[in-house]
Amino acid sequence: MAETLLDPDEPSPVTLDNEAGGSIFFLTCDHAGRAIPRRLDRLGLPDHETRRHIAWDIGIGGVGRRLSQLLDAAVILQTYSRLVIDCNRDPKVPSSIPEISETTEIPGNLGLTKTARTARVNAIFRPYHDTIAAALDRRAAADRASVLVALHSFTPVFKGVSRPWHAAVLYNRDPRLAHPLFELLSAEDGLVVADNEPYRVTDLTDYTVPVHGERRSLPHVEIEIRQDQITEPVGQAIWAERLARLLPAAYREFLRQ
Ligand SMILES: [Zn+2]
Repeated sequence: MAETLLDPDEPSPVTLDNEAGGSIFFLTCDHAGRAIPRRLDRLGLPDHETRRHIAWDIGIGGVGRRLSQLLDAAVILQTYSRLVIDCNRDPKVPSSIPEISETTEIPGNLGLTKTARTARVNAIFRPYHDTIAAALDRRAAADRASVLVALHSFTPVFKGVSRPWHAAVLYNRDPRLAHPLFELLSAEDGLVVADNEPYRVTDLTDYTVPVHGERRSLPHVEIEIRQDQITEPVGQAIWAERLARLLPAAYREFLRQ
């Protein structure tokens, strides 16, 4: 039997802004939000856990919105916490609804029934990805090219280990846009940039790039920014301005290949 997850007065799982923007770039923020459906009773977590990096990509929504304005690009943002369901992971992968994140047990995710898992897929995951697919279809139908830019942020310290990089450029099968962006970011004053670290794109750990980028053969790149860089609006603006300058330059390099 179907189970309802979201009440009618709760926020939509997806926001699509500036669809009519003229840019070739199409921005996604899979982990922009940290909302938890009322019915899930905060997943049994204390409030402070729902504000940490385990719940969302701190700062990335601000970067995505600002970058959308600067490039005049469409941006799609996910509203609900990745602890409810990770919108950058295939729902068939067990960690799509994590029982443990970093070292925090998620009580509301323990021993979920198939019905409860399906409710999260149907209420959050599916509408988010359907919105991306439909927007990309509309662009293709209008003969508009698209370059997919998947925006994420990572925690400065994970399981006690500090990350030295300010940002990372990630890819899997197609590095044609990622490589020039990596070179351009690495040439920025004072920036330490990772190439496919601390994560890389795979079919098991990612969904947006494999499904909407690789399968459509769209130029694409996944960008990770360290969260301490973009916690506040001033840092979000600095990163948005940097990416608004470097993404078009990287795309020009891509076209030369
Ligand atoms: Zn993320």
